[in-house]
Amino acid sequence: MAIATLNPATGEVIKTFTPYTAEEVAQKIEAAQKAFGSWKKTSFTDRAALMQQQADVLEKEAEKYGRIISLEMGKPLKDAIAEVKKCASVCRYYAENAEDFLADEEIKSNAARSLIAYEPLGVVLAVMPWNFPFWQVYRFLAPALMAGNVGLLKHASNVPQCALAIEEIVKQAGFPDHVFQTLLVGSKEVDKIIEHEHVKAVTLTGSEGAGAKVAEKAGHEIKKTVLELGGSDPFIVLEDADLEEATTFAVKSRMVNTGQSCIAAKRFIIVESIADAFLEKFKTKMAALKTGNPLEEACDYGPLARADLAEELQKQVQESVKKGAEVVLDGGQKEKDSAYFKPMILKNVVPGMPAYDEEMFGPVAAVMVVKDEAEAIRVANDSRFGLAGAIWTKDEKRGLEIARQVETGAMFINAMVESSPELPFGGIKKSGYGRELSYVGIREFVNQKSIWIS
Ligand code: NAP
Repeated sequence: MAIATLNPATGEVIKTFTPYTAEEVAQKIEAAQKAFGSWKKTSFTDRAALMQQQADVLEKEAEKYGRIISLEMGKPLKDAIAEVKKCASVCRYYAENAEDFLADEEIKSNAARSLIAYEPLGVVLAVMPWNFPFWQVYRFLAPALMAGNVGLLKHASNVPQCALAIEEIVKQAGFPDHVFQTLLVGSKEVDKIIEHEHVKAVTLTGSEGAGAKVAEKAGHEIKKTVLELGGSDPFIVLEDADLEEATTFAVKSRMVNTGQSCIAAKRFIIVESIADAFLEKFKTKMAALKTGNPLEEACDYGPLARADLAEELQKQVQESVKKGAEVVLDGGQKEKDSAYFKPMILKNVVPGMPAYDEEMFGPVAAVMVVKDEAEAIRVANDSRFGLAGAIWTKDEKRGLEIARQVETGAMFINAMVESSPELPFGGIKKSGYGRELSYVGIREFVNQKSIWIS
């Protein structure tokens, strides 16, 4: 794929970029390694001051960066601005907490004194997707830099201006040169970067296929990886749920980022006794959403990030309908070669259909009606993915008991799934491994060193 800015709302190629040569990449890795030599010796206080300055830049220029996000991947401008501001919050969170999270931990043992020390690893490569082109990067960048690591970013090929803007923001905040650099390269170059002796670890957020390739290479090189991959989150609605609230959040959670979110609700598992009432409200609210040009109008959802993604989603829908799924709300790709995709609701979704077995990365809700709570849990767990999920019930205790039985990295009760700096984020099964955010995330890319004093 060419490295280019192509506005998905218009199909217009705005700018193309020449990928960095192998020599340029090697120079940048050398420069990163050199920067690590002094960055790792800086104090938490100094790093925190720079991270706070970075948060200031993000907040002050949120609209400017929001426009770049919308232009490159099509999300409504108000959502893009909110994304940039969320990045400021994760910078502040780690600026305030990293020192505590990585403080020496005294351990009781047979030694006179023993402790765990958390030390930076060095150059860490981040391979990132386009769907939240700032947030995905910052939830790596903020903890990594606060821990004393240095970062290299290989961003998705359709968001090069976002990638360069982030490098620029780090510079503007006053961080030393080469502590965080963007590499404008295609995915074929990633293996060589992982092989480089100075690159100590890799984090990838993206599809299962890309995750498997990167983990294979890193495994061969004995380098640590964190993988944040796809999801097909269940949204379970029980008979005692507040249906008004549940349907409002069902729409929000399916439509977040025009459906292109790993933690969007994708499988709606509804108990039979309230299924008709749920569907009626869900359809009405989904059908009321407005679209438009994400840069110019106040719209609820924009185009998908690329026309080929709309085509791919259309195929998944067609195949599911061919196999018996019923269309409750009709929509789909507006026209051939368009990135716009109108929201859809499918019901009677069963195993063997793409809507049941695969991730639907766009505004298509798959509804499954189940007999009772036990069947809801069984269907929720009948997925290759295990990222997150939501349960709607007025009985909090019941919600918690169910939450413990669903095989995911996170469960939300009477709320939609969202990431926040304080709580670990990540999945199990084919959704990946490792965690970002919280104190858990900052400890992924550190040497957890045992020290024994006799
Ligand atoms: P993608 O195609 O896997 O791309 C993600 C990144 O990986 C891009 O930078 C891409 O570069 C690179 N890449 C692709 N193939 C590669 C390979 N063989 N070797 C090395 N790098 C490779 O995913 P996407 O379509 O951008 O993103 C959508 C997927 O990401 C969905 O499955 C979604 O659920 C998942 N996601 C997960 C999370 C999470 O936290 N769990 C968050 C957001 C998204 P190019 O662009 O140059 O191909």
